[in-house]
Amino acid sequence: MTFKALVVDKLEDGTTKATVQEMTEDRLPAGEVTVAVEYSTVNYKDGLCVGPGGGLVRTYPHVPGIDFAGTVEASDDPRYKPGDAVVLTGWRVGEAHWGGYAQKARVKADWLVPLPEGITARQAMAVGTAGFTAMLAVMALEDHGLVPGHGPVLVTGAAGGVGSVAVAILSALGHEVAAVTGRPETEGYLRALGATQIVPREELNETVKRPLESETWAGCVDAVGGAMLARVLGQMKYRASVAAVGLAGGAGLPATVVPFLLRGVNLLGIDSVLQPYDNRLRAWRRIAADLPMDKLDAMVQPATLADLPQLGADILKGQVKGRVVVDVN
Ligand code: NDP
Repeated sequence: MTFKALVVDKLEDGTTKATVQEMTEDRLPAGEVTVAVEYSTVNYKDGLCVGPGGGLVRTYPHVPGIDFAGTVEASDDPRYKPGDAVVLTGWRVGEAHWGGYAQKARVKADWLVPLPEGITARQAMAVGTAGFTAMLAVMALEDHGLVPGHGPVLVTGAAGGVGSVAVAILSALGHEVAAVTGRPETEGYLRALGATQIVPREELNETVKRPLESETWAGCVDAVGGAMLARVLGQMKYRASVAAVGLAGGAGLPATVVPFLLRGVNLLGIDSVLQPYDNRLRAWRRIAADLPMDKLDAMVQPATLADLPQLGADILKGQVKGRVVVDVN
């Protein structure tokens, strides 16, 4: 019995090539649970792993796909039995361990989460690591005092995966949402997700000239980093928090410490990969409760395994809008 997988091979000249291949189960890595994958998705890291690897992939051939949702086929762990619906994000699956761009995956039971009530496998992958991380960011802002009514919450990289889900969640929770985008053509899309204000990227990607600007934002979910994050820190309201999620605009932080010292601004680091199980459950339950599924559907672009090499290249160029859902069957 064979199944389909997107396999990345390393060629003799050192480059990589991703193709859809027939695979046998005996080639799957070790793990307690074998999952019949239904859907996967495309995150920024997937773009790296489908292409040259970005230092994330160590051994080839490799099956990428940092997220998947599907049904347990076989399990050596008492927590899971055949037929259970499960979702996986993080744990370096799709990077160090074979991932979800295949009709079957084998992983550690500790890495799985039961699919939350009220969410289908397809919807879970419309959320994926990007949406899960957006929810972690919103939870972190709330844990540090964000409540609706304090003023607009800024979302950077808004038309991307993390940004789109963050806009939809924050708006559904009753926040005013200001969406930063470098793609003016996405204004209608972002307003439909709930953004009340569109901020052109150029307004925020200049380096800091004054460490403090007027107090504007009650919170921020930042997918961009770099000069934009540095600017935003100086525009936060007194004691407001920024959840630092991504580095789409750069890993540097050309900032001053003045916003921390004079305005008590908090910079909160968000990691989705090694999140403890209890917090994963909490985030998925919040997603089921607080992310409007009609808005999630509006973000989705459907794809197949064969589309992944192109989509991987597109996401690295910041050209994917919203969330891609990959039907691996
Ligand atoms: P996407 O590519 O879908 O979104 C990134 C968005 O950032 C783009 O759509 C674009 O938005 C904006 N952008 C791209 N390039 C630039 C630039 N040079 N300057 C300013 N803005 C830019 O990626 P994801 O949403 O999946 O991921 C976003 C970031 O979050 C990535 O860096 C990713 O690695 C990180 N991430 C981190 C996680 C964690 O655990 N901490 C988990 C998931 C993702 P627009 O067109 O609207 O301007």
